[in-house]
Amino acid sequence: MLKKILIANRGEIAVRIIRACREMGIRTVAIYSEADKTALHTKLADEAVCIGPAKSTNSYLNIKAIIEAAYLTGCDSIHPGFGFLSENVKFAKICEEIGIKFIGPNYKMIELMGNKSKAKETMKNVGVPVVPGSDGLISSLKEAKEIAKSIKYPVILKASAGGGGKGIRIAYSEEELIKAYEVVKQESLTSFNDDSVYIEKYIENPRHIEIQIMADEHGNCVHLGERDCSIQRKNQKILEETPSSIINDKIRKKMGEIAVNAIKKVGYYNVGTIEFLVDKNRDFYFMEMNTRVQVEHPVTEMVTGIDIIKEQIKIASGETLEFSQKDIKITGHSLECRVNAENPDKNFMPCPGKITGLHLPGGNGIRIDSAIYAGYEIPIYYDSMIAKIIVHGNNRQESIEKMKSALGEFIIEGVDTNIDFLYKILENENFKTNNYTTSFLKDEFGI
Ligand code: ADP
Ligand code: ADP
Ligand code: MG
Repeated sequence: MLKKILIANRGEIAVRIIRACREMGIRTVAIYSEADKTALHTKLADEAVCIGPAKSTNSYLNIKAIIEAAYLTGCDSIHPGFGFLSENVKFAKICEEIGIKFIGPNYKMIELMGNKSKAKETMKNVGVPVVPGSDGLISSLKEAKEIAKSIKYPVILKASAGGGGKGIRIAYSEEELIKAYEVVKQESLTSFNDDSVYIEKYIENPRHIEIQIMADEHGNCVHLGERDCSIQRKNQKILEETPSSIINDKIRKKMGEIAVNAIKKVGYYNVGTIEFLVDKNRDFYFMEMNTRVQVEHPVTEMVTGIDIIKEQIKIASGETLEFSQKDIKITGHSLECRVNAENPDKNFMPCPGKITGLHLPGGNGIRIDSAIYAGYEIPIYYDSMIAKIIVHGNNRQESIEKMKSALGEFIIEGVDTNIDFLYKILENENFKTNNYTTSFLKDEFGI
């Protein structure tokens, strides 16, 4: 078993990983930027190393400093969490070259799957249905126009290196496509230092359904069911649930088998998520793969009883999966809400600052994954997500009631949050009756 893990991340996911390590008797090293001296992950880890100034490019994305920290503290492995370097090929490759275990897939798999356009091609080749669109990247606006004409509008233009909802634009006409082309290329260059784009059919009013997979380094693979992440703002998830009410046992089995089969064929290991769009006919299409743990992994943990972080560590230690597909049982229903420090009345503008008062909710089946505490100052430099509330009920109705109870009890003073906004979603009639798609927030709240 791995003995000492450096956690190359911050915030709630760093805390989540430290806690899993503690339960497993594994020592932990936190890294932190100058802006994170007082951050919870820095305090909770066995050791903590400052790796640079506040700006992520100088700290949490600083490969050299992180590798040095791991080396100097005698770590045998690195957990990258999500975001930051979690899908960075160079980082995973260096880890392998110097003999530090990267807790994730092999860097070659990140190379193959991290690039969205390449991933689509790979998946298509192993028999997974993909969203119709360009064969690989598009090299000119002229080509984009031709493809759009052949697959018919609306189309969606996507940055191949994109993530976190960035680098995506929809076009309903050629006029819009011309505009979108420049915007996506520019946004992608600034955000991901890569301006390659591809095009696909815009599936109207779909559900975002993803399959969690888990594979060891010996060829065994299982799936842990689906997550419905259709409640999104600007293509970014804010509320997730499992099971999805639009997926029955038959579709779950089919999607799961397709996912597991693809994973085995490409030789992927560790955990990962295959994201699909499901249209109104219940036809599903591969969209992208995330080669890391995801923000919304806890809902799957609640209904399966499997600790995904611990499994990642066991897999990276070379262990064989302890269960086969028939051992995976889904119990009840789970919901997650992402609590952000932002102001919904000011177009969701991030609202960092000092937390002057705090009361975290509790109760049967209510879990909080967070890195905030009373007196903590949220830095301006990073993501605005400050907590995740995860509930586990016997059914969807009970989960919704538990979540409302938790949101109602949650008190954060000193900064604005989206807590009241999340409550409004749970009270929405179409949400309650499961009548929603990825355009829910636009349709119901005009955002
Ligand atoms: P999930 O599917 O796990 O919810 P998200 O796409 O919401 O993933 O991303 C999780 C975190 O990682 C967010 O903080 C997001 O901003 C960040 N992120 C995702 N992809 C990238 C990327 N390619 N580059 C930088 N940050 C990313
Ligand atoms: P990211 O890497 O930012 O997560 P994705 O490719 O997963 O990007 O897309 C993010 C979201 O954008 C999806 O969850 C979905 O709501 C929407 N989306 C992406 N592709 C399409 C498509 N072809 N048709 C309709 N919606 C799409
Ligand atoms: Mg995605």
